[in-house]
Amino acid sequence: MAQCAALILAGGSGSRLGSDIPKQYLSLNGVSILRRTVDTFLAHPDIDAVQVVIGAKDRELYNVAIGDADVRPSVTGGASRQESGRIGLEALTDDAPDYVLIHDAARPFIDAATIDRVLSALVTSSAVLPSVPVTDTLKRSTGDPPIVSENVDRRDLWRAQTPQGFRYIDILDAHRTCASQGLTDDASIAEHAGLSVALVRGSEDNFKITTVDDLERAQRMTEYSSDEFRIGTGFDVHALVDGDHVILCGVRIDHSHGLEGHSDADVAMHAVTDALLGAIAEGDIGTHFPPSDDQWCGAASSVFLEHAGRLITERGGRIGNIDVTIICEAPKISPHREAMTLSLAGILGIAPDRVSVKATTTEKLGFTGRGQGIAAQASAIVRLG
Ligand code: MG
Repeated sequence: MAQCAALILAGGSGSRLGSDIPKQYLSLNGVSILRRTVDTFLAHPDIDAVQVVIGAKDRELYNVAIGDADVRPSVTGGASRQESGRIGLEALTDDAPDYVLIHDAARPFIDAATIDRVLSALVTSSAVLPSVPVTDTLKRSTGDPPIVSENVDRRDLWRAQTPQGFRYIDILDAHRTCASQGLTDDASIAEHAGLSVALVRGSEDNFKITTVDDLERAQRMTEYSSDEFRIGTGFDVHALVDGDHVILCGVRIDHSHGLEGHSDADVAMHAVTDALLGAIAEGDIGTHFPPSDDQWCGAASSVFLEHAGRLITERGGRIGNIDVTIICEAPKISPHREAMTLSLAGILGIAPDRVSVKATTTEKLGFTGRGQGIAAQASAIVRLG
């Protein structure tokens, strides 16, 4: 199998964005632009190693941005993109991969399909450039303020993107011997060395974040895709003891016995609360309302459920749905299902069609079957992002 390395150039200073932090270290919905870029290459099955080239002053920013990503130790680039590219290639000499893909860190929307197209073309070409055709009408201008002086024929014009793919030895040699300075991509260096550069289709989404408009577009693109779904489960049991009613999902039901518990012993609402807390990894009811604390003695369990709902909201989350099953022989749940659904939905401020309340018996088996207690289990989906 041919070995292929990805070389990510992250030495730019991003001066056009007006930020003190170079753009590749800015965050898009909680994940740095650099990390998003690197992760796509790490996830690609044909990429064997990822080498990042960073700016001399950016070590700390880099460490935070890259986190635990499985990349080679970074190297410090030079004064220009061209120099940084050469330094990155030199850093790969020990491995001497067959191929190298050289990519701008500020193109976080590189996709596996574009990488595939570049790699496929490398089988028959020594240099490959992903690009998109120019579709806008092009004008040349003169003067200030500018006035159109001529139309430019857009046929055969392409916008160059990255990753640009090369046979490693060829592009290393081209960089080492390149007499020109200030070339802004590696395909130009390959051309200078007399290599023929094949074009393959790039992607309109694979744009380079350069301006504030680009950054806003990138943020919009990640807002949608950053939604994260969390699932939680809850289970609870309370014993049936002397009494004349039970409270389930906030609904009082007359019964031959009552439920024993520190609070109002609403076993079903406790299971729902634990499912929601579980979905956001916030422990369980006992974590937030310790039974040792007397202030919760006899408390309405709606206090617990409201608290769980608030924690989700504070994290920018929304409840997708809740499903709770009450396990008992008696009382009969079905006459109260609708009231229970409305009760849970009301406490959480969500639509009733996101709440399911069900009941089952255990065919007279076990403690619920013998009427010694009531159990409840619940699942919940929470959408974060
Ligand atoms: Mg409980």
